[in-house]
Amino acid sequence: MSNKWVYLFHEGDRSMRDLLGGKGAGLAEMSNAGLPVPPGFTCTTEACLAFFSAGRQFPEGMWEQVVEAMHATERETGKVFGDAKNPLLVSVRSGARVSMPGMMETVLNIGLNSETLKGLAELSGNERFAYDSYRRLISMFGRTVKDIKGELFEAVLDRFKAQTKGGRDTDLTVDMLKEVVAAYKELYRNQLGEEFPEDVWEQLRQAITAVFDSWFGPNAATYRRFHGISDDWGTAVNICTMVFGNMGDDSGTGVAFTRNPNTGEPELYGEYLTNAQGEDVVAGIRTPFPIAELERINPEIYAEFLRLGKMLEGHYRDMQDLELTVERGKLWMLQTRSGKRTARAAVKIAVDQVSEGLITKEEAVMRVTPDQVDALVHPVFDEKAKKAAQGRGDLLTHGLNASPGAATGVAIFDSARAEAAAGMGQDVILVRPETSPDDVGGMLSSKGVLTQHGGATSHAAVVARANNLPCVVGCEAINVDVERRQFTIGKRTIREGDTVSIDGFTGEVFAGTITTVEPDLSREHDLATLLSWADEVRTLGIYTNADHPREAKVARSFGAEGIGLCRTEHMFFEETRRPTVVSMIMARTDEARAKFLARLLPYQREDFEGIFEAMDGLPTIVRLIDPPMHEFLPSRESLIEEVTRLRCTDENPKLLAEKEEMLALVNSLHEINPMMGLRGCRVGLTMGGVTEMQVQAIFEAACRQAKKGVDVHVEVMIPLVTHVNELKAEVTKLRQVAEEVMEREGVRVDHKFGTMIETPRGAVTADELAEYAEFFSFGTNDLTQMSFGFSRDDAEGKFLKTYVDRGILPKNPFQSLDQTGVGKLMAMAVKAGKQTRPDIELGICGEHGGDADSIDFCHRVGLKYVSCSPYRVPVARLAAAQAALRNR
Ligand code: PEP
Ligand code: MG
Repeated sequence: MSNKWVYLFHEGDRSMRDLLGGKGAGLAEMSNAGLPVPPGFTCTTEACLAFFSAGRQFPEGMWEQVVEAMHATERETGKVFGDAKNPLLVSVRSGARVSMPGMMETVLNIGLNSETLKGLAELSGNERFAYDSYRRLISMFGRTVKDIKGELFEAVLDRFKAQTKGGRDTDLTVDMLKEVVAAYKELYRNQLGEEFPEDVWEQLRQAITAVFDSWFGPNAATYRRFHGISDDWGTAVNICTMVFGNMGDDSGTGVAFTRNPNTGEPELYGEYLTNAQGEDVVAGIRTPFPIAELERINPEIYAEFLRLGKMLEGHYRDMQDLELTVERGKLWMLQTRSGKRTARAAVKIAVDQVSEGLITKEEAVMRVTPDQVDALVHPVFDEKAKKAAQGRGDLLTHGLNASPGAATGVAIFDSARAEAAAGMGQDVILVRPETSPDDVGGMLSSKGVLTQHGGATSHAAVVARANNLPCVVGCEAINVDVERRQFTIGKRTIREGDTVSIDGFTGEVFAGTITTVEPDLSREHDLATLLSWADEVRTLGIYTNADHPREAKVARSFGAEGIGLCRTEHMFFEETRRPTVVSMIMARTDEARAKFLARLLPYQREDFEGIFEAMDGLPTIVRLIDPPMHEFLPSRESLIEEVTRLRCTDENPKLLAEKEEMLALVNSLHEINPMMGLRGCRVGLTMGGVTEMQVQAIFEAACRQAKKGVDVHVEVMIPLVTHVNELKAEVTKLRQVAEEVMEREGVRVDHKFGTMIETPRGAVTADELAEYAEFFSFGTNDLTQMSFGFSRDDAEGKFLKTYVDRGILPKNPFQSLDQTGVGKLMAMAVKAGKQTRPDIELGICGEHGGDADSIDFCHRVGLKYVSCSPYRVPVARLAAAQAALRNR
């Protein structure tokens, strides 16, 4: 016996979505629930796949099953397919597992030919309607099944419409429609060299074939690639008895959502057209009116539709997207599916449905995506304005979406000028080849940041995320010329002062202004409610990466439960401290250095006091100095330039001597590969006094705040450890400093010493490290860099994008944790760490701590917390809750 390829609607149900497609499963479910669904049947997605594997042939037995199902449909409707007196007409429509709007094909009115046409006219008593249906069939069949250009049919129709007074298709007379039909048939013949098929079974066979074929049509294939839908799913084909919305003024067609998909308001939302078929609404040929108008036109039908909509929403426990047709005063339901919605609507609907008792809090938490939460806490571009810009040719390029949010402003190519322009009230987009700590001031006064180079963990990306600045990096297609204050892309040049817009969600860069929609968190009550439910189920703690009390406060207001990474070097970069930092580095002996460290101490202490105060009651993980020393010094290139100039001009011998000394120092610290050079714990181990000063400042601040009543929990984190002896030496030395301070201050504070796991060797020797570390924090930025051997500064701009585009890597591993490789190292380290120290505290502070998929992994591997930038905290709360529910 051959397979079952065909299911009558009432033979299926919603659990059969993979086999019947979304639409087929919906029709089946509605039929069984007793809703008015026109009889019909579905050819399965398996039939589609079998069709392709057999070289575009219907699989054995399928056509016989289609014929059988048509007969069953005839019995149900009392009509006969191809019968001249009482013809059955059907629609043939695609329907994949997930909705792919407008991407695949539909043919309506199959079953009309010159014979059945007469029957339809007589039966309906409406000749106009019959011819209108016939011309629709010929054009739709011609376009969809035979690939004739739609414009050709439209041109014919337009020619006739132009002869009417109103100029609309409803103004065409019967005689005109007859002429349209004749003209369409001629067009069909001329294009194909064959007649439009009179045999209704042939129409059906070809239409089903065309719908199967549309699965590999270019539109569908592109849509699938964009949405990550597998080619292997196939599409089902739904054959459904035609009901007619174009039978006169007591007929019509519409689409409606059971709730407003833009705002989430519990109101029917959609459009309706009297005397029309569905395609008229979709194609925008006529302007429909709001569905609420139906209440005025036909209150009974409206009430019935409202009732059915409610019932379906209750049945599916989600907002539904419905298609309806009214044929001579009778309501028919043609589709139901979960409706697409905006981020705001998603949150409101989920929260409302919990209070209505329709879904549980946990379901509500699963209904909203992390991206939707992200969209609510950042400004976004108005979609229409963005499309318009694209239409104008103003989409310049696509970079890496480093920090979410949308921003418009004038392009400024230098941080000092950016600050000045912002000071004068201008909205600025800072454009740089890449950013460095010197740019922080300029960045913070800008609305957004755009860089030519750099990746997801680059300076620009990290600082932008921490400060909620929209940021696009790694835009290698543009050429930034700082000297000339411009960037070029192809033939286009954007000069300083020109307006640009960047979309940090997508990485798009536009010329000109795009209207943005600002978030207002204080008004996001539904989001607050949803996140409070997320907090009830998640087991991961949500910490934040914050270097300033200001960031710590923001993160706390978003629900952060600790600081997972306070990067202390940012404190060294502040302008007032830089000269002291430089002198400290230049000092040739530990004694000479001690003098400058003593000057830095009060600054650091003050910073920590602010942070501990902001984090009262919550843990703060402070990382000791990490970057290569040369980052604190002037750039080597500019020094060489200046020294050369001073030597040539001889204008200022004193300055020349100073600059030469500086250059010598910079040269002595110069490294070919600074990322693998003198940084991390190597600084503390080789430059006496630096980390001692930091720990002294941390503990003095902690003790002083504790004496004021602040509840301090401090954890000192040692970076870039690769060998246990590094950790042993640093921890032993620094514990002593901490003890001395607490002794002197006469108070003890809760504290821990621990390490980052950010080198592969560190990860595989975690059992040894745990002897000295009370906690591990995974620094997955460096761990990714060193596991892959991909430079975090260069790889994303140079080749990673190509890797991802070509599918060599599934995702950018600096954005989404490489679970199979880097993740395996983490899992090893977790296990080994716990073996040595069962109560070891485990967390992550790399940028992955804010990525939903990576958070899911962190949950599974058993971390205590994830730490992310302040504005990512709401997203992480939701993602952590979803991870807990998903992995229950
Ligand atoms: C890391 O490497 O993951 C990390 C958090 O440290 P940084 O990004 O400062 O190197
Ligand atoms: Mg690191």
